[in-house]
Amino acid sequence: MSRIVYVNGDYVPEEEARVSVFDRGFLFADGVYEVTSVLDGKLIDFEGHATRLKRSLDELGMAAPVTTDELLAIHRELLDRNELVEGTIYLQITRGSEGDRDFVFPNPDEVPSTLVLFTQAKSIANSPAAAKGVKIISVPDLRWSRRDIKTVQLLYPSMGKMMAMAAGKDDAWMIEDAHVTEGTSNNAYIVKDGKIVTRHLSNEILHGITRAAVLRFAREAQMEVEERAFTIDEAKSADEAFITSASAFVMPVVEIDETPLGDGAPGPVATRLREIYLDESMKSAI
Ligand code: PMP
Repeated sequence: MSRIVYVNGDYVPEEEARVSVFDRGFLFADGVYEVTSVLDGKLIDFEGHATRLKRSLDELGMAAPVTTDELLAIHRELLDRNELVEGTIYLQITRGSEGDRDFVFPNPDEVPSTLVLFTQAKSIANSPAAAKGVKIISVPDLRWSRRDIKTVQLLYPSMGKMMAMAAGKDDAWMIEDAHVTEGTSNNAYIVKDGKIVTRHLSNEILHGITRAAVLRFAREAQMEVEERAFTIDEAKSADEAFITSASAFVMPVVEIDETPLGDGAPGPVATRLREIYLDESMKSAI
């Protein structure tokens, strides 16, 4: 069965889905996105993703093509039509197409934005990677300075993953002024003497929806959390490390730049936080 995807008001088989060659998402990466995870046929933290989407659109002066309630209805319809039980829903909004290429933004009253959603079926709760942890390398952070906006400009993060794969590793953490900003598609954390350290929120990182939930659950479980920048050297001498994202939840990091962390196996804090996250996020799934 081919996937049913959503394009500008229509539910169509993926082979029939079309957007214009003049779409600004295609020509200028002028678009934003969200990825919402699905467990047991339910959406995890839909409200958090909808709120961040609104903020990304506002920051770029882009119109929302539908209301949040309509967006939820589209998510649910896609889940049903594709019988998705576990995986993710990808959503993208671009500034649309005015039928030509021009750097100047089109008038949003005349050119509607493009809205596309599709499902991706995958096992995320019982991921084999979570049992053994991931190995990462560090790369310089060469992205633009508004990383708080979730744009589809993902070429450099994609290159970062390719550099990791070329080195025989799983992923990369990006470094700016000797400090870790974040992972290619996730937020970065270290644990030292039981304390969880992750970079503070700013324009330099994406404000992860999973990050917000994990920090809340950690504090509720009386774990100590410090939000500040940390260096890559500090990370290499940490007791453990992990990453978070909507599609990986809490994923232990067991090696940084060839240096094993602790005994080279997933650490107790990351393992516990992954369990707490799975339990707690399911309670509020819709
Ligand atoms: N940072 C970056 C650069 C990302 O691409 C992502 C995931 N899209 C995250 C952090 C994690 O965000 P979230 O928890 O909302 O998936």
